Amino acid sequence: MSSIYDYVVIGSGLSGLSIASRLSQETEKVLLLDSSEVAGGWLRKPHLAIIPESPLAEKGLQFLEDLTGIKIQGDVIEQSPLTYDEGTFKAFMGFGEKTPDFYEELAPYCSSRFYNLKALPPLWIERLLENFKGTFSPRSIVTKFIVENGQVQHVLVNGTKKILGKNFIYCGDVKSLNRLLPSEFINGKVQTKISKTKTWTRATLQIDHEALVTDNPAFHILIGTAQEEIVTCVGQFQGPHSTWITFVPDEEAEDAEVVGQALKRIKRQIKRAYPDSINENTLEKISVQPNFGGHFDIKLSANQSWPELENLWIGSGTVQKNRNIVGTLNQAQLVLASLGFLAADLENEASHEAEI
Ligand SMILES: Cc1cc2nc3c(=O)[nH]c(=O)nc-3n(C[C@H](O)[C@H](O)[C@H](O)COP(=O)(O)OP(=O)(O)OC[C@H]3O[C@@H](n4cnc5c(N)ncnc54)[C@H](O)[C@@H]3O)c2cc1C
Repeated sequence: MSSIYDYVVIGSGLSGLSIASRLSQETEKVLLLDSSEVAGGWLRKPHLAIIPESPLAEKGLQFLEDLTGIKIQGDVIEQSPLTYDEGTFKAFMGFGEKTPDFYEELAPYCSSRFYNLKALPPLWIERLLENFKGTFSPRSIVTKFIVENGQVQHVLVNGTKKILGKNFIYCGDVKSLNRLLPSEFINGKVQTKISKTKTWTRATLQIDHEALVTDNPAFHILIGTAQEEIVTCVGQFQGPHSTWITFVPDEEAEDAEVVGQALKRIKRQIKRAYPDSINENTLEKISVQPNFGGHFDIKLSANQSWPELENLWIGSGTVQKNRNIVGTLNQAQLVLASLGFLAADLENEASHEAEI
């Protein structure tokens, strides 16, 4: 109760860490809260992380390089994705009638120009944490925003602990705002929009093959043939290993069977393309990450604060159309610019940049 922080940043993923790291150059009274044991959010397990080339991506990577002090952006690689169809490998030309509902989540992999990253996400996290001069509090779940006189006065952590602050920057999952904000500060239409936004569980299959399957590093976009096997997935071979991902709607993924079926179908597709690639000796690792993607099309104030609460800013990239690393870095910059800590020449990608 004794401290009142200048800034309380909720969520230590790429967005929260970037914002907190920059703010802590101005004041040490910055508290960074995360429900997990460690910082980094999704970037702790960035399977198949890619950043397609775009002017906005360059700006975001420059911002990240300034914050971390490391060179991140490498040359642009030209590499078109492949697909397997009617017994042969072909250049991927689009989904046509088989466009999956999670098309937007796959869009980055359909690109043919992306950056060869000189430093990978785990190093970004390490450097951002090193440069952060405030206090990091892991295992701290924000369970409620408490409002007095039209401003967030404090948040409750783990149900009971009060954290007082002058400014709050929320970089957690937007869906949770429906339960974190007092109902009088989130209007019914916005609540409905948030709860109806489709989010995905990302299922990842990592395979250690017995031998090299292919030395082609292109992304493979496999779509399936028979009606019951249409589970679109994307994968990449790296040496004798390969990584494959697909998406299942969050509400369906609660049933482990559904995810299990999707992974089985992916394996069938890999075997169809590369018949000898999987046998009883190949090692497989599965991971399942909920809450992927989803574009929360909500209207924030021009300064990125919550319309009803002027000292609550939203840092999550999922309010941007580009709900990926680029959208996240853009949103973090917009919030910092509004707070007066970055040049405000940033475009709001939501209105300017075409989606990848
Ligand atoms: C599985 C997965 C794979 C992805 N792959 C790619 C990719 O390849 N390329 C790409 O460009 N983008 C990818 N993305 C998009 C990715 O979400 C963004 O690029 C970016 O990393 C998101 O950063 P963030 O800080 O907004 O969110 P996150 O990384 O999700 O971090 C949010 C943090 O907030 C914490 N938190 C949430 N709620 C609370 C609370 N109530 N109290 C306290 N802490 C809380 C969480 O524990 C978490 O650490 C992926 C996302 C996921 C989930």
